[in-house]
Amino acid sequence: MYLVEERGVKPRKTRYTAVAVEREGLPVMLHTHRTNHVAHYLLDRGKVPGLEGARVKSSEVRVGRSRFDFLLEQGRKKIFLEVKSCTLFGNQVAMFPDAVTERGARHLQELASLVTEGTHAAVLFIVHWPHARIFLPDYHTDPAFSETLLNVRDKVQIIPLSVHWRSDLTLDGDPRPLRIPWSYIERESRDRGMYLLVLSLRRRRCLSIGRLGRINFPRGFYVYVGSAMNGLEKRIERHRRVRKRPHWHIDALRAVSEFHSAFPIRSSDRLECEIARALSQIGEWKIPDFGSTDCLCGTHLFGFIDDPSHRADFHRILQRFRMDRYDTVASISGTHSDADRISK
Ligand SMILES: [Zn+2]
Repeated sequence: MYLVEERGVKPRKTRYTAVAVEREGLPVMLHTHRTNHVAHYLLDRGKVPGLEGARVKSSEVRVGRSRFDFLLEQGRKKIFLEVKSCTLFGNQVAMFPDAVTERGARHLQELASLVTEGTHAAVLFIVHWPHARIFLPDYHTDPAFSETLLNVRDKVQIIPLSVHWRSDLTLDGDPRPLRIPWSYIERESRDRGMYLLVLSLRRRRCLSIGRLGRINFPRGFYVYVGSAMNGLEKRIERHRRVRKRPHWHIDALRAVSEFHSAFPIRSSDRLECEIARALSQIGEWKIPDFGSTDCLCGTHLFGFIDDPSHRADFHRILQRFRMDRYDTVASISGTHSDADRISK
């Protein structure tokens, strides 16, 4: 944890604020207002590809009801620039946002609507991870943001840059532009794929599960791996509802438990059995043959004493199938050539 002393700010409980956390020995910045300082610094030094020679005319610029981080001038061009801080990444892939942001999608639309002959717009994603090579919108958690990014990309210049922080929180070297594999995003971000459904069961239950017969379910949390290659959001919505005609094994457990959360993993490939294999490594108990009558897996349902979504190994599995899969797909299909465009 990196702490800085706060001076000249109103009294707070502690005088220190966490500005960064550490990952693999490198600091990862947490504070967005610092990201704007970084952007300003890089702009002043001509280190932002596509915006070389642009100078900052004003910051926190109001246009109508919206506000943008910077107004730049590049020759006769006016450029509205929005800066986003990106702290979600796998090995080589960085994603934005890390939680649903209606504001993010709205900002993109507003930027696009400002574009005229003399007025341009750009969004700069500062990625706080020097090993990042690829930038993707996080279509798993925020498909609306992802769709908006795809829609505005011909109007708004999209610039993802990775920066390298030294341990003394100064910048090391020049920022690196990241590639955006647009056709991969278009294919993979659709409303289809897998999901991890997390249910919580308050007390032990004995349930009748189709041909499996009566099964004991210890109290705790359950993670179910399912897939919906035709309507993922609708499927997750269905699991949220209690009242429905039972169809799958999971419906019987859902009827007596609470919907805790769901984690979509959008993909054009069926990955549920691979995900089930990964979960079987971390599950504390298993319900044999549950949800896996059509495949060779031992089960698609795993039990946990405590909330699995607080576990690092659970998030590593999500990261592997949501982000790191890009590396595999790209190396098999040769998508890297498509990914070579930094932006449009
Ligand atoms: Zn399976």
